[in-house]
Amino acid sequence: MRTLMWFRADLRTLDNVALHEACLAAGGASGGGVVAVFTICPDQWLHEHDWADIKAEFILRNLRELGERLTKLRIPLKILETPRFDGVPKALLKLAKDCACDAVFFNDEYEINERLRDEAVIEAFEDAGLKTRRFTDQVVFEPGSVRTKEGKAYSVYSPFRRRWESIWHEEGMPPVRPEPQKQAETGIEPDAIPETIRGFNMDKAREDLWPAGEKHAMHRLKQFISARLDAYKDERDFPAINGTSTLSPYLTVGALSPRQCFAAAYEANGEKLDKGSRGAVHWMQELVWREFYKHVLIAFPRVCKGRSFRPEYDTMPWREDDEQFRAWCEGRTGYPIVDAGMRQLAQTGWMHNRLRMIVAMFLSKHLFLDWRLGERHFMRRLIDGDLAQNNGGWQWSASTGTDAAPYFRIYNPTTQGLRFDEDGSYICQFVPELAGLKGKAIHEPSEAGGLFEALDYPKPIVENKAGRERAIEMFKTRGKAL
Ligand SMILES: Cc1cc2nc3c(=O)[nH]c(=O)nc-3n(C[C@H](O)[C@H](O)[C@H](O)COP(=O)(O)OP(=O)(O)OC[C@H]3O[C@@H](n4cnc5c(N)ncnc54)[C@H](O)[C@@H]3O)c2cc1C
Repeated sequence: MRTLMWFRADLRTLDNVALHEACLAAGGASGGGVVAVFTICPDQWLHEHDWADIKAEFILRNLRELGERLTKLRIPLKILETPRFDGVPKALLKLAKDCACDAVFFNDEYEINERLRDEAVIEAFEDAGLKTRRFTDQVVFEPGSVRTKEGKAYSVYSPFRRRWESIWHEEGMPPVRPEPQKQAETGIEPDAIPETIRGFNMDKAREDLWPAGEKHAMHRLKQFISARLDAYKDERDFPAINGTSTLSPYLTVGALSPRQCFAAAYEANGEKLDKGSRGAVHWMQELVWREFYKHVLIAFPRVCKGRSFRPEYDTMPWREDDEQFRAWCEGRTGYPIVDAGMRQLAQTGWMHNRLRMIVAMFLSKHLFLDWRLGERHFMRRLIDGDLAQNNGGWQWSASTGTDAAPYFRIYNPTTQGLRFDEDGSYICQFVPELAGLKGKAIHEPSEAGGLFEALDYPKPIVENKAGRERAIEMFKTRGKAL
């Protein structure tokens, strides 16, 4: 049997469930061989999924690394391009036939468009008499399998996590698959990985910050585990400290699997999941947030369609204000901590989690602008843009989602800055025009009198108390109206 391995958001050879199974099914070095394929869909990615330039570029670099590793395993990597997902079934089937493959293997994706695409592929292959096999890989436990006693999906994180942990205890740590063995020669040449993707600007690359490939991802994971895991709980909220793993881009494109992350932390924590080092336990709990939001996509697909998780907030009378939205996007709100976060995003394609929460709450509460505008802006800029995590984070911040922050608990951006960046070193890294200020003035430059007049920095675009009260009033009225 010759198998076709279809790579998507799983750009690695280690611990890749579908690849592992495709190689086993093909019969190893004396079998029928494995062919790999990746499908590029520029219009879909650009216009419907709002992928960032930096993410598209990162995918290409990871593909290059993946192609080299696959070549060593005698698996040629083919590249197909169709403008949108609807062209994928036909193109994939043709490739399978051209390469004499009997079946296609792939790991599941959970977004609605991806699921529809996969169903169309399965139908096309079955109609042609070829097999399809799909696997759970992106998450530890299959979405839909973590349920309440009544068989319902969880809509709140903490009980989800407790159930998730009890499944782990019942079933044991999920296995991490080794790299497959060399496969039989197919005589098929790999394709060259393209230098660009139509519509995307490859100049946005930050190779210095985000080196590609699973080897680098593993190195980053190991470094984090050995040097920063134990202090994670204490340091994770301070953006000037390198206290988090910065692994999200690698998890998003699948250069690293969640099982590899859990396995490394679990082992470092003396094979304990929910006891032991505070840092290790907390880091694994953050990884469970990632799992939770993927499960939410399956149980509540409306969140894939631009709808609020809590339907009562679907018709919120959000304000429209292009100028304020632009100021937020460009990091010119007059709130230094907000502006630093937005400029970190623009410059690096990534933003610290504490900042993501601050800027998202500022947009949806203080400015009372539709959270979907912010969600989309993030997707268009983030190297780790992931529908489930991004939507989950935005709806949490806007109080429209699962676990939503109560609408009246609104971060004061100045207080957040003072608390999490007391000496202003993070702010001054990204808002260098404030570097001449000291102490509290960094956080409230407009209160610095003459010093402020000399700065090229805006006054706050909304007054904190007024913005906060307006948001609370809007949410309260909405609650009463329903
Ligand atoms: C408004 C908003 C938008 C977000 N958009 C995204 C996104 O598009 N892609 C994305 O991967 N994450 C997103 N997050 C979650 C979180 O901010 C990032 O995962 C985290 O900052 C990545 O940094 P790290 O890898 O150093 O995380 P670490 O703190 O080292 O955590 C390890 C991993 O756990 C997962 N994780 C951590 N925190 C969260 C969380 N709050 N929710 C879900 N998963 C989490 C991530 O996969 C992360 O890589 C968003 C959060 C908010 C509030």
